[in-house]
Formats: sequence, structure tokens, C-alpha cells
Amino acid sequence: MAFLFDRVTIVGLGLIGGSLAQALKRRRLVREVTGVSRSASTIRQALRRGAIDHGTTDPLRAAARAELIVLATPVDVIVPLARRLARAMPPGSILTDVGSTKAAIVGALSSGLPPGVAFVGGHPIAGSQRRGFEAADPRLFEGTTCILTPERRTDRQALRRVAGLWHPLVDRVVIMDPRLHDRVLAAASHLPHLIAYSLARAGRSAGGWAAPRSYLDMTRIAQSDPELWDDIFLSNRAALLAALARFERELRRLRRAIARGDRAALVRRLRQAKARRDALETP
Ligand code: NAP
Repeated sequence: MAFLFDRVTIVGLGLIGGSLAQALKRRRLVREVTGVSRSASTIRQALRRGAIDHGTTDPLRAAARAELIVLATPVDVIVPLARRLARAMPPGSILTDVGSTKAAIVGALSSGLPPGVAFVGGHPIAGSQRRGFEAADPRLFEGTTCILTPERRTDRQALRRVAGLWHPLVDRVVIMDPRLHDRVLAAASHLPHLIAYSLARAGRSAGGWAAPRSYLDMTRIAQSDPELWDDIFLSNRAALLAALARFERELRRLRRAIARGDRAALVRRLRQAKARRDALETP
């Protein structure tokens, strides 16, 4: 079978970068994967696990011979790193990323890269509250969706090639405007994370309190890495604030129904909420 790419470089061998490297190698989709990590011990671990063919702590060295670079670092590192690496990449090469917010990244990288280096924004909707290479899993993307977020100037052939890389790994590749992506993800992912963090802070954990399952379920994602999520909240500020305002309105309505002892209003709202949640599990 022909390889999708000869030389792919993945920068950041954490949960997403490490999982992608392992999935690409295991499925033999690319000839050669180079991993870039700040840590020599992560590189050794990735080599031992067969996730990468080569490893380096020097991203510029890896960039010079890459056909495709995938940036899998925290969101606020992606734009400066992309600009730096693009200058070292060969003509005809492609840069993509896996960052959880898209409008700021795509906006910043839609111009100013050297001619011959194309950028395609990406976001696999897969992951967990865990982090680092130890948490990486070659099956992480199975059954999930990967969103690619081109804009007007995005090179269409580069978009097709990046879509082709994700197709065998996920259930669906969806093409979406970067601003729409950010609005959808603000409501579906960023707001729930923010609420989980606030619930975990507000929760009482007085000595010996056995937290019920419901509390653990609701706050699981508050175990996510704050160093990753501060970037996500701040780089999607407008869409997140709009989603937060909608949530606060709904919470106020529930609060009012409870304060007034208005059972009918309370039940109506809870029923509507339950129906929406049930619908998510209807095939
Ligand atoms: P992670 O497990 O913490 O991995 C991020 C990796 O980036 C680190 O392991 C580190 O790799 C590298 N890194 C961290 N700080 C860096 C810096 N200042 N400069 C250069 N490299 C740095 O996090 P992750 O969950 O894989 O997230 C990576 C990206 O995927 C983020 O942009 C996130 O928004 C996105 N994403 C996350 C999820 C999720 O559920 N976690 C889902 C979809 C997309 P080395 O130690 O190897 O250098």
C-alpha cells in the first residue's frame, strides 16, 4: 500500500501527539515519523514503544526535512512555533495543528508563512483529562471526528492531504469555518470544562466525605491540565463568554423557579433538559 506521506514530524509528544504518532505507525500510514520533544527521556520512551522512527529535541532540524509537520503543543505555543518552523521547511511542505481553538490560530497563520509552505488548521475531537506521552493511546481517535478549518486562502491540495491523513484514523472528517468551530466548541467543550472547574472549586470536601458518583462524573474534566485549559479559555474568549452568558441565563431561570417554589416551571425546564440529553444517545 502506498504511504500517505513519506516524512511526518510531530512536535509535542503528549497525549494527542503521542497518540497520533502511534496510530500512524501502527496503521503503517506513513513511511517515517519523527518526534520532537523537549525531553530526551520522552523521545527514548516513544522510540521504545515504536511510536516514532527518529526523535530530536531540535524542532528546526526536524523541520528541514519534513513533508508534513503536526503541531501538538499547547494552543499558545502553536503560532510562534509554526512561524519559526515554516522558515526551515522545504517548499511544497504542509503544516497542520491539533489545537482546541481555531480562529486565532488560523487567522494568524493564514498569511505571512513562506511561499510553498501551506497551513491547514485541525482539531481532533478526541482526548481525555490525562496528559503526556504515558497517556497516549493509538486507538484514541477511533470512532471520533476530526474537524479541519480552512479559510479562503487555504491551499486546497494541502487540505485534501491533511484530510487524507485523518480519514483512516477517525469516523468522520468535517470541514468547518474556524469561527463556527470556536462557537460550537465553546458550547460543547469549553463551557463544560469551565463549569467543571468551578464546581470542583465550589464543592465541599469536608473530611471523610465520600463524593457521590454524580459529583465525580460532573467534575472529571476538572482534572484536565490547567496549563492547557487557560490557553483554550483565553484564546476563545468571545465565543466562551457568549456561551457562558447563555448558561448563566438558564441557571438564573432554574434558580428563580426554586426560589419561588414554582414546581411547574422547574419540572418543565428539567424535562426539556432531559429530552435534549436523551436525544444525544439516540442513534
Ligand atoms: P499534553 O499531553 O500536555 O501534550 C502537549 C505536549 O506539548 C507536551 O507533552 C509537550 O511535549 C509539548 N509542550 C508543552 N509545552 C510546550 C512548550 N512551551 N513548547 C513546546 N512544546 C511544549 O496535551 P495534549 O492534550 O496532547 O494537547 C496538545 C494539543 O492538543 C493542545 O493544543 C490541545 O488544545 C489539543 N487537544 C487536546 C485534547 C485533549 O482532550 N487533551 C483534545 C483535542 C485537542 P514534550 O514534553 O514532548 O515536549
